[in-house]
Amino acid sequence: MTNFTSRQQDYLAAMGIDVWLPRESASAENIEQERQPAIAEIAPTESVAIAEAQPQVEPVSPDTDVSTLNWESLQTCVAECRRCDLHQSRTQTVFGVGNRHADWLIIGEAPGADEDRQGEPFVGRAGQLLNAMLQALDLSRQDVYIANILKCRPPQNRDPKADEVAHCSSYLQRQIQLIQPKVILALGRIAAQNLLQTNTTLGRLRGRLHHIEMTSAPVIVTYHPAYLLRSPLEKRKSWEDLLFAKSTLESMDS
Ligand code: SF4
Repeated sequence: MTNFTSRQQDYLAAMGIDVWLPRESASAENIEQERQPAIAEIAPTESVAIAEAQPQVEPVSPDTDVSTLNWESLQTCVAECRRCDLHQSRTQTVFGVGNRHADWLIIGEAPGADEDRQGEPFVGRAGQLLNAMLQALDLSRQDVYIANILKCRPPQNRDPKADEVAHCSSYLQRQIQLIQPKVILALGRIAAQNLLQTNTTLGRLRGRLHHIEMTSAPVIVTYHPAYLLRSPLEKRKSWEDLLFAKSTLESMDS
């Protein structure tokens, strides 16, 4: 049986996943006392303020070959990007955030309203759930890198169009090359299908390792936190996916 620290138990509880505990450690009073700080930690009042500082934006050609750019030039290029129509409706680009040398790369779909406003991926309620999912793995946002398939918000949060993904994909590819993660976690159908270039359903993509061209890191697919908020019964499957990713990473290190 997996042994969870009390902190991991807190976050699993916040994810809505029950963890079996020995009777002596599972009194209602103890659980209630221990849950309070964890729930407070993922409350909307606390923002995880690790957004990468926006550099001074220098003019960059939209035709720039990004495959050799360093982090700063790449970020500048994205901030200036007008390759697709989404630049007209964005508040700002959402480049990505976290540890540029991370083992874990988390890839979502596209910025939503909160992300567009704040310039950081996975903020708002879905971001809080992602934080809880990471904490349950003993990870924080500072331990991983988080990015999206698209760097600009599609209006009304519609699905990304094929031409938008085509125009934007080189940025994520360069981020993957620069980070050199050990494992990639694709969150949701849109991220998974675009990353893996497939129309296969998310249900059939889960539970196995996938491989993509630009990296040797395996890709593991799970649900998007926004979907989990609407379908909490799927949180257990998501937890299985996270444990699968963790065991994959551990098997590489052993
Ligand atoms: S979505 Fe990507 S390609 Fe389109 S304008 Fe934004 S950064 Fe450029």
